[in-house]
Amino acid sequence: MLLEYNVALQIMLESAKNSGTEKVCFTKSLNRVLAEDIYSDINMPPFDKSAMDGYACRHQDLDNELEVLEIIGAGYEPTKIVGKNQCSKIMTGAKVPKDADTVVVIEDVEELENNRIKYRLKKSKSNICYLAEDVKVGDKLINEGTKIEAKHVAVLASVGKTEAEVYKNPRIAIISTGDELVEPIRKPGSSQIRNSNGYQLLAQVNELGIDAKYIGIARDNINDTTSLINDALSFADLIIVSGAVSVGDFDFVPTVLADKGFDFLFHGVATKPGKRTLFGTNGKQWAIGVPGNPVSSFIQFQMLIKPFINKLIGYHQIFDDLKLELDDDFKRKNSKRLSFEPVIISGNKVKRAKYNGSANITALVDANAVMLVPKGINEIKKGDSVYVRPI
Ligand code: AMP
Ligand code: MG
Repeated sequence: MLLEYNVALQIMLESAKNSGTEKVCFTKSLNRVLAEDIYSDINMPPFDKSAMDGYACRHQDLDNELEVLEIIGAGYEPTKIVGKNQCSKIMTGAKVPKDADTVVVIEDVEELENNRIKYRLKKSKSNICYLAEDVKVGDKLINEGTKIEAKHVAVLASVGKTEAEVYKNPRIAIISTGDELVEPIRKPGSSQIRNSNGYQLLAQVNELGIDAKYIGIARDNINDTTSLINDALSFADLIIVSGAVSVGDFDFVPTVLADKGFDFLFHGVATKPGKRTLFGTNGKQWAIGVPGNPVSSFIQFQMLIKPFINKLIGYHQIFDDLKLELDDDFKRKNSKRLSFEPVIISGNKVKRAKYNGSANITALVDANAVMLVPKGINEIKKGDSVYVRPI
């Protein structure tokens, strides 16, 4: 029986359990998912701070000649209080001296004899960043469930959070299958093809910021398939297998996984491509089998495996399906399944990528999204709205 895509996805998400948390140094935290909220231990700015190089003075004295008391560099305490017709030269980032309410910018100041200055204009902004105007001690700055990007590393550094609690990454193994496969370094013989899935799946996992181990090509026999699946199960939480999941004479993956104690939560999804996708668990580990055609395995990774892995790593990720205008006509004869069509988003319009079916991996080079064509829809007209998911 084929499950609807949403049902299959829901089953996978419900099955996904994270295997706990660990502490990482913030310098190694990129792409990890926070298992704690991050709070500030300081005010930002931590003092009234000059936003400019200039002179700190009292706004009411701007029309007058001002006596320069001292020079305050960033990182130094002012030693003088600014009184009537006085100022202190100040650098960007330095602490504003007591009683000054304005920093006039250096470009608008004339330097006179005898350690005096004259402001050339009438009015000035304060040019002061005030104590705690950005953040107060105890403010929550980043939510649990956030995937750490460079901007979050800046915040971790700013609040002195040198170790952060993150969710553990799953250990992932990738297996290709097929007697016809040769590794990319070889030129394929007349009945052979290069193994692209192994490396494509590895790269897709890596794009999520997670390491994975490529195990190799399982040949189309029980022994070899068992042997590679054993290797994978010896360490991995999740194994991803491409090919040999269908109902052909040499599709040994379901048999071997069943032998190894895996229950299948589904084996068949009503999508095109990706119909024979398989998902199972032995209670401790998960196995996902995707059809061997390169576009099938690529797209099923995007549509099912990526949300599953994101759930495993605690990432509160919502996919953003965009509603855009189709800039071509679309027709199909068979509308029994939800179909994922490679498309190119350009502005608020979507064009179809030249695509000859699920073996045509080169069609994905130009595509940056898939259009979701619902079951029962045979035709979409140019100008109609469609849902697309960026890939
Ligand atoms: P299968 O799902 O094993 O029946 O394979 C379906 C199609 O995908 C066949 O044409 C295979 O040759 C091709 N295929 C299977 N595995 C790979 C792979 N790792 N890389 C590229 N093509 C593959
Ligand atoms: Mg095969």
